[in-house]
Amino acid sequence: MRDTILVTGSSRGIGRAIALRLAKDGFDIVLHCRQQKDAAERVAEDIRHLGREVRILCFDVTDREHARQTLETDIETHGAYYGVVCNAGITADAAFPALSDADWDGVIDTGLNGFYNVIKPVTMPLVRRRKPGRIVVMSSVSGLMGNRGQVNYSAAKAGLIGAVKALAIELAKRRITVNAVAPGLIDTDMTEDLARDEALKMIPMQRTGTADEVAAAVSFLCSHEASYITRQVIAVNGGMC
Ligand code: NDP
Repeated sequence: MRDTILVTGSSRGIGRAIALRLAKDGFDIVLHCRQQKDAAERVAEDIRHLGREVRILCFDVTDREHARQTLETDIETHGAYYGVVCNAGITADAAFPALSDADWDGVIDTGLNGFYNVIKPVTMPLVRRRKPGRIVVMSSVSGLMGNRGQVNYSAAKAGLIGAVKALAIELAKRRITVNAVAPGLIDTDMTEDLARDEALKMIPMQRTGTADEVAAAVSFLCSHEASYITRQVIAVNGGMC
């Protein structure tokens, strides 16, 4: 049986690119989406063409009970995962005085509580597998250096780095590595409304990144070659920080 990796938020954007890249690397894939089942089905079709097995789980990562039930059932049926890429996330940008309670709660719930809701149910089965494993968490340049208009998002993404660093210590002896990837400005639906010219001034490489460039870093961290890399944050940001 081939090793399986769950990629949350893989119906589109960076998560889709990661799922396809990991399938090309030889892993079976568990796709995940909140609403876009049709989009996830199309990604699944591409993965099947690569000769890998794939299935789709749908749940809102903010719904703890639904996430737990869905993941526990999937693991009971198909066995523990080799790895999890915790990628689902949202932005809701506003200058801090204008930030609404809903925008604060929504971004923290999806980004930070979503990590807990997904990683908690998969960790014990991963440990009980008694084999090497991988957890990769999608942070952001905003979590490393903060970003104007993103107090909520920067807090969620910085919180994830703390969680990664602590969990990596707990799982290190079990040969399960835990790392974060912190992308800069990547071309996806999430960034299509951004003031591009202003943003480019902050990027030494003077261009945005692609989802495939982020997927390449995740692919390496999930590979067997990355077995001695844990508790790290890998930035993929064209030199922003
Ligand atoms: P997209 O908006 O393109 O895709 C987001 C994905 O997350 C979708 O698959 C979406 O599912 C899923 N998702 C969002 N909220 C939930 C939820 N509550 N429950 C379940 N799934 C959810 O984003 P990107 O691909 O750009 O971003 C992916 C990750 O990378 C995010 O964590 C983001 O913060 C991070 N990132 C992105 C950067 C960028 O420049 N694009 C830069 C730095 C970090 P559905 O389609 O079903 O809604």
